[in-house]
Amino acid sequence: MKELKEYLKVIEEAKEDLCGLSDAVWENPETAFTEYRSAQLLAEFLKKQGFRVKEGVCGIETAFTASFGSGRPKIGFLGEFDALSGMSQKAGILEKEAIREGCSGHGCGHNLLGVGALAAAMALKAYLEDGHEGTVIYYGCPGEEGGSGKAFMAREGIFDELDCAITWHPGTMNMVCKDSSLANFQLLYEFEGKSAHAAGCPELGRSALDALELMNVGCNFLREHMPEKARVHYAITDTGGYSPNVVQSRASAVYLVRAPKQQEAYELMERVNRIAQGAALMTDTKMSSRLIKSCANTVPNRVLEKVMYQAMQDVGVPEYTEEEYELAVAYRNTAGDGPDTGFENVVEDHLQPENLQFLKSHRKDRLYDFIVPYEPVHLVKAMGGSTDVGDVSWQCPTVQINTAVWAPKSPGHSWQVVAQGKSSIAHKGMLYSGKCMALGAMMLMESPEILAEAGEELKAELNGQTYIAIPPEIRPAAISQLK
Ligand SMILES: [Zn+2]
Ligand SMILES: [Zn+2]
Repeated sequence: MKELKEYLKVIEEAKEDLCGLSDAVWENPETAFTEYRSAQLLAEFLKKQGFRVKEGVCGIETAFTASFGSGRPKIGFLGEFDALSGMSQKAGILEKEAIREGCSGHGCGHNLLGVGALAAAMALKAYLEDGHEGTVIYYGCPGEEGGSGKAFMAREGIFDELDCAITWHPGTMNMVCKDSSLANFQLLYEFEGKSAHAAGCPELGRSALDALELMNVGCNFLREHMPEKARVHYAITDTGGYSPNVVQSRASAVYLVRAPKQQEAYELMERVNRIAQGAALMTDTKMSSRLIKSCANTVPNRVLEKVMYQAMQDVGVPEYTEEEYELAVAYRNTAGDGPDTGFENVVEDHLQPENLQFLKSHRKDRLYDFIVPYEPVHLVKAMGGSTDVGDVSWQCPTVQINTAVWAPKSPGHSWQVVAQGKSSIAHKGMLYSGKCMALGAMMLMESPEILAEAGEELKAELNGQTYIAIPPEIRPAAISQLK
């Protein structure tokens, strides 16, 4: 029997193809649920590798699965590949400059995310081919950004069969994620009134824009009485026109309501609904609301986190050239003088003096080429954002890691992230993530009792809470596709 790390060689051997695949996705940035080319590139690659590929799963054209092997354990890798609108940026330069102004770009590194997870699936397949029992499933998950693709997939039960799911996200540090994320609900509120000449006969008009403004004011007063860490954001999507001498007969806004627990977010959404009803009542207009999507908070799994921490150490962080360190410094310098919030956030977590000391000693590193020490904390901290990985984590034990693909201080969703998306540092971080995930998965396949323990932990964490699935009549759609 080979040593487990031997199976990681397939990633090293396919290195050029994998980096080329990630670059190809970077060059074809496609936003939520329109990732036709990106999904096809990844699916074709997996087909050639001998995976059984199913396209258009869960009724979503750009969602797919690729599986290999049979029986249990069943381990899934989650891949994403959607881009962000308006983030077009040239690669490899140190200033903001779009390839094409207004076009999309890979501002969250999902070109790397999809391929890193694919690399893991390839190595796990090599392990299974060597006479091990079990199944690997790669999930091609579209529309993470603003679309919660995985929540639509989760409602169809596609993740239920898994013993566990493993994923990663590009970052500036190598670490096991142990924080939760915020649950959210996203809704479109539309008001309908009556237009009239704003000076000649205002008494005949009923202003939808007044209603919308009152709804926003009401929600701003709501903020004082929300659970801690809850968030309410809105974007006005229709002001009813630009003529002030008309009483606006229509107005709309998209609201995003977030809270640490899915149930809390649901209750907060109901309060926002009542504020919208109140605004319609006050203005004698009609209000309609429509759920666009929701996503659940992430349920961390300490059992799996420990395995992944071990795997990250066993694989070992990539080595970098002097040029790569210098490039990282150059990108770091574009981010200004403020503190590195990502780094400080991690420092806050670590209470053991030696780990704290270790981290602090690396604060000024040119590139975070170390693994953040992992301490299993009992307290679950909710990070500021949301992810649809949360929805998977309610269906099966789920774990996530970050690897360093960007220079320290690179802000999320920034031109710096897009510019670094094809760099050799990014490629190294991506391949490292694939190796860590594959090794973690092999370790779990070797020890089914750890997988069982992870399942028990999930059951205990959920403790009878029910998952609030997106209702069946809601179709996946990005905000840009609502009209
Ligand atoms: Zn993002
Ligand atoms: Zn992302």
